[in-house]
Amino acid sequence: MKNSITILGSGTSTGVPILGCNCKVCQSNDPRNRRLRTSALIEFSSGKKVLIDASPDLRTQLLRTQTKTMDAVLITHDHADHTHGMDDLRPFCWNHTEDIPVYADESATKDLKRKFRYIFERDEYFANKAILGGGIPHLTLQVVSDGEYEIAGEKFNLFSLPHGHEMTFCFIQGKCGYVTDCREIPEPVLEKLHDAQLEVLFIDCLRRKPHTTHLHLDLSLDYIAKIRPQIAVLTHMSHEWDYQELMSELRTRGINNVLPAQDGQTFLYSKT
Ligand SMILES: [Zn+2]
Ligand SMILES: [Zn+2]
Repeated sequence: MKNSITILGSGTSTGVPILGCNCKVCQSNDPRNRRLRTSALIEFSSGKKVLIDASPDLRTQLLRTQTKTMDAVLITHDHADHTHGMDDLRPFCWNHTEDIPVYADESATKDLKRKFRYIFERDEYFANKAILGGGIPHLTLQVVSDGEYEIAGEKFNLFSLPHGHEMTFCFIQGKCGYVTDCREIPEPVLEKLHDAQLEVLFIDCLRRKPHTTHLHLDLSLDYIAKIRPQIAVLTHMSHEWDYQELMSELRTRGINNVLPAQDGQTFLYSKT
């Protein structure tokens, strides 16, 4: 039995279309040019599910996938487009006797506690008042750093990558690699990704020109050539990318194992 990963969103922080933008891609009728904020859902053959980032579009995304349960959340880094859907996890907590664990690095953990005090410091926050109304998400932060962890009963290898003022996690899970929101991939991590003999690699590809915090097309392709996955899927894409044009450009350049992500697309991969 294989595991699966579904692209919940393949768009950069604004999503595509961008509010108020009249560009060709934002005005396009091609559903492949509609990109919710970057996040993903892993489903193990055990039935357990791990959410990768809680995007501001989370509710819409998990309605689309008809997701009814959640076992763990992995936060790559604490930027608004990856964490501000946190409260949408609330209904998944109702049928859980224990809190759902949220894995994040030390820096993201601090920021999440500050932003979501009512969730992550609930004892202090509700020390002198009752929790009224619809309740709060019962989530518990678990601080993780680079290394191997068991999440929802399966192995994840986490690696920190530079992303502007922050670091972001990329990970290897079975034969799947996931690399979003990074300025570069240092050589030792590239080697790990290569040695993992990935069946599918998701990789940041914001736009054509270099960027201060993200990978751009030629750099993404350069890394893909070094990592050598069976399939590479470009994600965290801006409104610069028209799906069909980008696909045609890749094929014209003789690159046949790379495709732009589409929201809702699912990929199967082996456990080992
Ligand atoms: Zn992002
Ligand atoms: Zn636009």
